[in-house]
Amino acid sequence: MFLETKRLTKQFGGLFAVKDVDFSIEEGKINAIIGPNGAGKSTFFNLVSGLYRPTSGQVLFKGKDISNLKANKVAKLGVARTFQTTHLFEQATVFDNVIVGHRLRTKANLFDSIFHTKRLKREEEQCKEKALEVLQFVGLEHAVDHLVANISQEEKKRVAFALALATDPEIVFLDEPTAGINPDETAELSELIEKMAENGLTICLIEHKMQMIMNLAEQIMVLNYGEKIAQGTPEEINRNEEVIKAYLGG
Ligand code: ADP
Ligand code: MG
Repeated sequence: MFLETKRLTKQFGGLFAVKDVDFSIEEGKINAIIGPNGAGKSTFFNLVSGLYRPTSGQVLFKGKDISNLKANKVAKLGVARTFQTTHLFEQATVFDNVIVGHRLRTKANLFDSIFHTKRLKREEEQCKEKALEVLQFVGLEHAVDHLVANISQEEKKRVAFALALATDPEIVFLDEPTAGINPDETAELSELIEKMAENGLTICLIEHKMQMIMNLAEQIMVLNYGEKIAQGTPEEINRNEEVIKAYLGG
């Protein structure tokens, strides 16, 4: 299995934010995680991307146990996640956001980012080329030099995608990629997500817009109070009694 969690658990004090979750993601597919607010979706993302250490259980990426690796190591192995657009630097350009984001994600320490050895200079050049390439891919070539403060919310979402793509991932976790944008923009971002999948990327997204999920996802996991209550194709999820009771509300 491409990415797999085994009895993955995260406890905050007495609260199980994620509890005993077994989930497996096939390569090249679009996967989705749904569930009510507070169900543990973002915590699950933080666990698989190395931002949180599990209380118990495991995360396996291509068979390798990555449960206890730090986020920068996980990113280097090819696992990326997006953050909310509030994490962007508003007073920096779109281009610089991608460059800085890339550095923050992949550099192990301050030493690396301060002392510019020859090797690092070459890496810098590659990093700039990569930034332009991913900005073109997400459709922001016209906005490379714009301040993030001056672009639309939908364009900010694309910057967040570019940041994740800059680390050359094999799998990308997208946390509510279309929150706060209108239906037309949502359709455009859905197309971009499909384009990412067509380019061989494996996708896992958290989303509240059911229509979008039903059209886009090939596999859905439903979380409720930290636990997996269902997993299956959109059709299977649609007719699952427990899901209807817990989430869809009939
Ligand atoms: P979702 O993304 O599905 O809305 P979260 O993963 O953000 O849910 O949260 C799951 C539960 O864990 C919630 O009850 C939330 O309050 C709690 N939680 C999340 N992060 C923390 C944290 N860092 N410290 C304490 N509790 C947290
Ligand atoms: Mg969340």
